[in-house]
Amino acid sequence: SRQEVSYFGAGPAPLPTSVVEAGAKAFVNYNDSGLGLGEISHRSPTANKILADAKANLSTLLDIPDNYEILFMQGGGSGEFSAVVQNLVPVWIERRRRRAEAEILKANPGTEKDQLNELVYQRLQKEVDEELKLDYLITGSWSLKASQEAAKLVGSKYVNVALDARKANDGKFGKIPTEETWSLTPTKREGGKGSAFVYFCDNETVDGVEFQSFPKSLEAQGQDEEDERLVVADMSSNFISRKVDVSKYAVIFGGAQKNIGVTGITLAIVRKDLLPPHTATPPPTLLHRLNIGGLPGPVVLDYATIAKNNSLYNTLPIFNLWIAGQVMADLVSEFGAQKVSGQEAVANKKAQLIYGALDKYPAVYQVVPDKSIRSRMNICFRVSGGDDAKEKEFIAGAEKRLLQGLKGHRSVGGMRASNYNAVPLENVQKLVQYLEDFANGQ
Ligand code: PMP
Repeated sequence: SRQEVSYFGAGPAPLPTSVVEAGAKAFVNYNDSGLGLGEISHRSPTANKILADAKANLSTLLDIPDNYEILFMQGGGSGEFSAVVQNLVPVWIERRRRRAEAEILKANPGTEKDQLNELVYQRLQKEVDEELKLDYLITGSWSLKASQEAAKLVGSKYVNVALDARKANDGKFGKIPTEETWSLTPTKREGGKGSAFVYFCDNETVDGVEFQSFPKSLEAQGQDEEDERLVVADMSSNFISRKVDVSKYAVIFGGAQKNIGVTGITLAIVRKDLLPPHTATPPPTLLHRLNIGGLPGPVVLDYATIAKNNSLYNTLPIFNLWIAGQVMADLVSEFGAQKVSGQEAVANKKAQLIYGALDKYPAVYQVVPDKSIRSRMNICFRVSGGDDAKEKEFIAGAEKRLLQGLKGHRSVGGMRASNYNAVPLENVQKLVQYLEDFANGQ
């Protein structure tokens, strides 16, 4: 039964049993309507209410400021790797286009429209060629993938790998070198021209690496567009597990299938002034002419379109949305005024218990990432230095106790205990007991 199994899989991850049970009913006959949530229209009043409630609860939990839009999308975290490029590069182009137009008109007032457009195009072509940069901080497998996707879309010459954490750690992920060693594209204030955005993955699911706080060098520098670093964060695997100052970000995104719900819903929190009509997008013809790969991109990944249509541009999976909404509603009612900080305290406590047991037996267990950047969500460790037989024995013993999903990602091996929000404290205690017993040869 569910109560007997302790599941530590990295995603999809466990959901609160109460939500799964209510979901089973809602899938068959929602609120005695005679229809299940997989069957109703995404444009029905019922769906609208589910959507509005989910938004309100997420806003409450994370204190999302009014100048942010919450978008429910599809395509997963991987889809967002493309979406951020597709949406933020045009913001950069539009800002440059406006500046070019203003400067040309200032130098030559009364320039005819066609000629103006041509001059703007020529200048932009040069600026794109010489100055378009997308900064990526690569601290693990998922930020690496995101940077590769960006390079595939727009071309690798535009991607500035501001940090490849493997370089300082024998070719492996597991450390985040100090910020002075990063090579972010300098902003105007720093004597440069700035990048379209800076991208990082807040928690690297495969490698067990989590940023402990918001990077200092990404803090706001001023109001000038060229002084601003638009910060994009992938929070797929630590969403709603700690307090976040949303106002520091241009975009936060994550798939639902770890801390929030079932697969099939992707959340994006996007600063409104980066969307039209506040910022007009460059005309598609200009984008075509500039010939930057991937632009303009597919409409289902277009933040402005999704925002304008209240996340209902195309068919949103309402059952999946409802599950996410329930999880969030439960966190709101469980933690009240503490909001997400309540969940954060629980997550920290559970992570400390597991790391505590691992650190107690250094000859038996070796935590993979550096102590300074250990993830609270994905706890990666080796058994007996990665000895194959010992690790198999560890997994087999765990399975006997119905402690499941502990195998590390196939690309890195070893063990990974994922400690998402819905993993109960009792299950963590069972794992800790097993860690103790295994280390003591029992
Ligand atoms: N980012 C992170 C941090 C992830 O852990 C994952 C999936 N495990 C992804 C992105 C990709 O998400 P999806 O499978 O939803 O595309």
